This record gives sequence, structure tokens and C-alpha cells, in this order.
Amino acid sequence: MTMVNHYNKTNEDREIYCCLRNKVVKADADHLAQYCNGCKMFSAVHPDGGVECVWEDIRTDRSRVVVADPYSEWMENQRRDVTPGLSAELSGPDAALAG
Ligand code: SF4
Repeated sequence: MTMVNHYNKTNEDREIYCCLRNKVVKADADHLAQYCNGCKMFSAVHPDGGVECVWEDIRTDRSRVVVADPYSEWMENQRRDVTPGLSAELSGPDAALAG
């Protein structure tokens, strides 16, 4: 899988999608200090307030993408591709234990 540099541009409310927290967050000093500082995905902070984050992304084979809409990005990352084998296992007698 490819490591992809995601350049998360801030929207008009200074929000970005944060992969670590899996949510749209305000890209302010608190977020940078509490989460980006020490995050293994952190790459850079841009002068415009955007944050570059590097993580494996199955959606593309490019090495760098620009994320302009944090809410669309959040929605995209909620998708879970389910294989036929997995659904068959989950419907078996132990399905209730999978919780
Ligand atoms: S560097 Fe980590 S904590 Fe900061 S926005 Fe990216 S994923 Fe989130």
C-alpha cells in the first residue's frame, strides 16, 4: 500500500479532516499542540494553517493529494469495503460474539 501525503487545506471555518481523530477538527493551536505534536502521521503545517499528514490510503496510488473539503474527506473515510468471505463469517453461529 502507498504512503500518501494528504495536504489538508483549511476551509472557511479553519477546519480540516484529522485522520488520527477520524473527525473534522478546527486546525487551531490547541489541536496542533494536543494532537499533531507527537502524531506519527504529521508531516508539516502550512502558512495558511493547513496540515500535511502521511498515511496509507487505499483510495489512490498517488503519493500526494490535496484535501479541500474536510467533510467530504470524512465521509469518504467512513466507507468500509466488506469482502464476501467476511460477511459469510459474520452470519455464522459465532456472529453474536463478534459484538
Ligand atoms: S498530523 Fe495527526 S493529529 Fe494532526 S491533523 Fe494529521 S492526523 Fe490529525
